[in-house]
Amino acid sequence: MDTIGQLQRQLFSIDGKGYNAYKSIRGTYIAGNFSLYIDYVQGDPFVSPSRIRVRVDQDVALLPLRAFKSKISKVALEDYLNRQVANAVSKYTSRNRGTGKSGLFFVDKPGQQVLERTAVVATDKYLEARISLGLPAKGRKVLGKQASVMFTEELPLIVNNSLLYTELNHEELWAHVFSVENQDFLREQLKSNKLVAFIANDAILPRESGVSDQPLTLNKAVPFKSPRNKEVTFTLPNGLQITGMGIPAGVTLVVGGGYHGKSTLLEAIKMGIYNHIPGDGRELVVSDPTATKIRAEDGRRVEKVDISPFITNLPQKQDTSRFSSDDASGSTSQAANIMEALEIGSSLLLLDEDTSATNFMIRDVRMQRLVAKEKEPITPFIDKVRPLINKLNVSTIMVIGGNGDYFDVADNIFMLEDYKIRDVTKEAKEIAKELETKRTREGTTYFGSIPLRVPNPNSLNAQKGRKNKIAAKGKSLLQFGLQSIDLSQAEQIVDQSQTQAIGDIIQYTSQHYFNGRPLRQALLLTYKDIDREGLEIISPFYGQHPGDYALPRIYEVAAAINHMRTLIIQ
Ligand code: ADP
Ligand code: MG
Repeated sequence: MDTIGQLQRQLFSIDGKGYNAYKSIRGTYIAGNFSLYIDYVQGDPFVSPSRIRVRVDQDVALLPLRAFKSKISKVALEDYLNRQVANAVSKYTSRNRGTGKSGLFFVDKPGQQVLERTAVVATDKYLEARISLGLPAKGRKVLGKQASVMFTEELPLIVNNSLLYTELNHEELWAHVFSVENQDFLREQLKSNKLVAFIANDAILPRESGVSDQPLTLNKAVPFKSPRNKEVTFTLPNGLQITGMGIPAGVTLVVGGGYHGKSTLLEAIKMGIYNHIPGDGRELVVSDPTATKIRAEDGRRVEKVDISPFITNLPQKQDTSRFSSDDASGSTSQAANIMEALEIGSSLLLLDEDTSATNFMIRDVRMQRLVAKEKEPITPFIDKVRPLINKLNVSTIMVIGGNGDYFDVADNIFMLEDYKIRDVTKEAKEIAKELETKRTREGTTYFGSIPLRVPNPNSLNAQKGRKNKIAAKGKSLLQFGLQSIDLSQAEQIVDQSQTQAIGDIIQYTSQHYFNGRPLRQALLLTYKDIDREGLEIISPFYGQHPGDYALPRIYEVAAAINHMRTLIIQ
C-alpha cells in the first residue's frame, strides 16, 4: 500500500500531461486515519467520473455496536451516515475546477425514504463511503495540484466530519436509527393483528406539491386522526405507546367528495411499504410490505398473462389464459397488472378510481340489461374483490368516489370530509339495504388460477453493441440493452438508484437463475443472495466501488421485466 504522500507526488509529477496520465493513480493508499481506494479512473473530464472508496476502521470510527443490533438498524445507520457524507460533500468541497466534471464530488443522496443502499456500508469492522469525483483538467490536461487538494484536503474533511462517531450529532443519529427500527417493528405487527395498514394519529400525509416528497407545511396540513372504533395502540420495544388507525384485512373503501383527501391517504398507504426519515410526517404510517398500487395502463405490453379471472371471450377467440398484447387496453392492462402482482405474491392491492378503467371496475344494472354477459368479456372487479379476499387472502383498499355499488362488497367504508376520516360502514350498509342495486353478480365465488410464468432468459438481453448497457435515466426510465423500459407507472419506485438496481438485478438473475425457473422463484433466489452478500452483489464491479444502488422490492423488478417489449414467456 502506498501513502497519500506518494499519491501527492505522483499527481504533481503528471501535472500538465495528457488526461490519460491519471490512469497511473489507480491503487490503494493509506491516508492518515483512513484508507483510500482509487478503483476506477475516468478517461476524459467529460465522461462518468472516477470512482473511489474511503474506509475508516471501527477502532477509529468508534460506532457503538448497538447500531448493528439488526439488519434494519444497520440499514438505518448507513442511511444516516450517507446523509452526513452528502452534507459534508456540499459543505467542504469547492466545485468548479476546470473542464467537464473537474473537481466535483458525487455521492448518492437519499430522499424521504430510508432504503438499503451501497453508497455507505457499515460493518462492525469498518465504515466505507463510495464516492465519485471528477479528476480536474484544463482542457484535456491534468491539473495535478488541484487533484491533490481534492485528495489531501477535501477528502479528509469529508471523512472526519461524517464517518467518525465523535464528530457526529449523537442525539440525531440515534433518533434516526430508533425511528426506523420502530417503523419496522410496527410493520411487523400488522399481520398478527389482521391489519393491512396502520396510520398513527398526528401523521402528516399531504405533500408539499405534486413534484415534492416533502411534507406540506404544518400550519396548512390537517394531521391524521383515527376514527374511534378503528383505533389501535402498539407498544414499541422502548415502551412508548403509539395510537392510530388500523385498517383491517379485507375489502376497504375510501369514499368522500372530490378534493377531500382520498388519494392522499391512499398515497401514504402506498408509501407505507418504506421507512421514512424523522420529520417526514409519514414515519408512523406502515403498510403490508407486499402492497402494490394497481392502475390501468393502456398501451403497455403484456406477455402471456392469464387474465381469464377478469376477461374471457374476447373477439376472435383470443386466448385470455395466455394473453399477449403490444398495446393493451385500459381494462386488459389493469387486469394484467393485478395478475402480475398476485403472481409475485402481493397480498394487498391499492386502487384509485382516478387511475382505473371504469369498465374494469363496474357494470351497473342498466348496462347488464343492455349488453348481454356473453357479449361482455369483462367480469368487473366488483365481482372479484370478494373471491380475492375469501379464496386468496388478498386484501384491497380502494378509493371510490363515484360508485355506491361497492358498498355491497366492502368490509369497511371510510369517508374523508375536509381531510378528516370517519367510519361510515354502518351508514353505507344501511343505504345499500334501502336502495338495492339489483345488479346481477357475475362470475363465481372462485377467483381463478395464477400460473407461475417462466421467462426465456435470452429475451432479457442487456447487450448493446459489444457491451452491456444498463442505465437508469431518472427513476422512471431504464435503458436495458437496446430497449428503454418505461417505469412511470410503477409508482412505488422512489429513487433512480432503485431503477439502476432493477436493471442490474435483472441481469444478475439472468446470469444465475432464470434458466427454466419461474419469474418469482428466480428473483427470490437473487434476493437471498442480496440478503446474504449485500446489495452490491448485483454489481459487475463487486469488490470495488459497486455503483450507486438502492434496494427495490421484488414487485418493482418483476414489473420492469413484465414491461419489457422483448420479454418472451416460455
Ligand atoms: P381527492 O382524492 O379526495 O380528490 P386529494 O387526496 O387529491 O383529494 O387531495 C386534494 C388536495 O388536498 C391535495 O392538494 C392535497 O395535498 C390536499 N390535502 C390532502 N390531505 C390533506 C390534509 N390532511 N391536510 C391538508 N391538505 C390536504
Ligand atoms: Mg383523488
